[in-house]
Amino acid sequence: MDEPAELSNIRVVVRVRPAQDKTKTEAVTCGDQLEVDCGDGKRFTGAFADILGPAATQNDVYRKVEDVVLQTTEGINACVMAYGQTGAGKTHTMLGDNDGIIPKALNALFDKLGSDEPPTPVAQTPAPRAAKVSVSLLQILGEKLEDLLSPSSEIPLRVRLASRVTDELYVSGLSSIVVDDAEAALKVVNRGLKGRRERSTKRNDASSRSHAVLRVDIEKTDDVEVVKSRLYLVDLAGSERASALEDDAEGSPSKMYNPSETQRFKEHVDINRSLSALGNVVSALSDGPTKRPHVPYRDSTLTRLLQDSLGGNTRTAIVACCVEINQCVACCAPESIYADESVSTLKFADRAQ
Ligand code: ADP
Ligand code: MG
Repeated sequence: MDEPAELSNIRVVVRVRPAQDKTKTEAVTCGDQLEVDCGDGKRFTGAFADILGPAATQNDVYRKVEDVVLQTTEGINACVMAYGQTGAGKTHTMLGDNDGIIPKALNALFDKLGSDEPPTPVAQTPAPRAAKVSVSLLQILGEKLEDLLSPSSEIPLRVRLASRVTDELYVSGLSSIVVDDAEAALKVVNRGLKGRRERSTKRNDASSRSHAVLRVDIEKTDDVEVVKSRLYLVDLAGSERASALEDDAEGSPSKMYNPSETQRFKEHVDINRSLSALGNVVSALSDGPTKRPHVPYRDSTLTRLLQDSLGGNTRTAIVACCVEINQCVACCAPESIYADESVSTLKFADRAQ
């Protein structure tokens, strides 16, 4: 008898932002398929379930990921991440002008958790808390983790194994703030990200070279059990290759003898390594355990950190019905000078689906 087909838990949405300079030729065409004209007669064509063109709104994008987000209220871990080169619209997609996936997801989560709460009997006040939500915010720069909610903390953050039996991981030293509603959660997130931007400018390490990771932990308590789940919302570092550093608008051309440039180059190599590790992980997950039993989470800090929300139904029994669904929004820039980067983003997206 044939093995039943393994359903992939990874969904891919491709988003192409509007062109910023209408005088430049556009290389990306959105239709049933996505086409990139790389010049010299070379074309890339990819088929994706969800292709959002330049006219797509923030709501359109959010609608594609909402079911994934809301499943975390049912004890299911999830991860939504934006992948693409610098300038392709990752931060716009995740955060935007407080209208991106992060604010919309936080609002929807609290709405859902509130409406799930049992009605309070008249005589019984105050109402028992049905859900506890806490947020953590960190960045991965090179292979190093930094706590964005406690930036001056001297405690180094480490991804550690909580239990050898379940493979459960935790980040030691990471702060986590309990929030009562979406507004409070967003305030915390925006404060952390503002500090990140400011420090990033001072240290000359543009935030495009680090991954920003928002972790939302949900703990629902009913009469018999505590159901824990986790949502990661990730604005990944720019996926451009190191050679693209040469014409990085934010920096001077790479000079390998300049120590800060050398440091930057090293960070870039680390980013490429962590993104290719992520590519290998999502590709193994989308192939399924029969074809690819080994998922190489250990190859980068990013993939180790996201492991519990990326794959492997390996949590303890307390975390009921824990399966994982992941979503990757691949962001593309339409301009022809970015054609090669768009192709590399689409190849990543294609491996994930
Ligand atoms: P990234 O985070 O991938 O480096 P950004 O999100 O900062 O890119 O986007 C680069 C620029 O393009 C920003 O000025 C942003 O506001 C704009 N932009 C990105 N996506 C869109 C979109 N879908 N609609 C309108 N403007 C966008
Ligand atoms: Mg960005």
